[in-house]
Amino acid sequence: MLQDMGFESDVMSALNSDPNRRPPASEQFIANLPKVNDFCAADKCCVCLREFVVNQVVALECGHKFHTDCITRWLRLNNSCPVCRTEFPTDDQEYETNKRLKRQKEATLQELHHSMFS
Ligand SMILES: [Zn+2]
Ligand SMILES: [Zn+2]
Repeated sequence: MLQDMGFESDVMSALNSDPNRRPPASEQFIANLPKVNDFCAADKCCVCLREFVVNQVVALECGHKFHTDCITRWLRLNNSCPVCRTEFPTDDQEYETNKRLKRQKEATLQELHHSMFS
């Protein structure tokens, strides 16, 4: 139990200290992004830098707009707006599990590496 708690706080501090290790946005959040058609012709998607196409634009809560495909791909890697870094909901449970599995995998790979090269 104590070990578990130590692990959790370790994860939390890693999360807070490393901005590159953000969880992806929640799938439900991505699925429910509102479509918008009130963009101006001069507006461009900040992910791919191309112009917007009618019926393929969604707006984030912060007001920034992106192609549906672009922001979907982005939010599956990152839980924040690519422009202003506003953070969005995540499937925390899943993130924790993935993180745990990833760590285990890394540890296993390291062990393997050591046993192969030492
Ligand atoms: Zn785009
Ligand atoms: Zn934004």
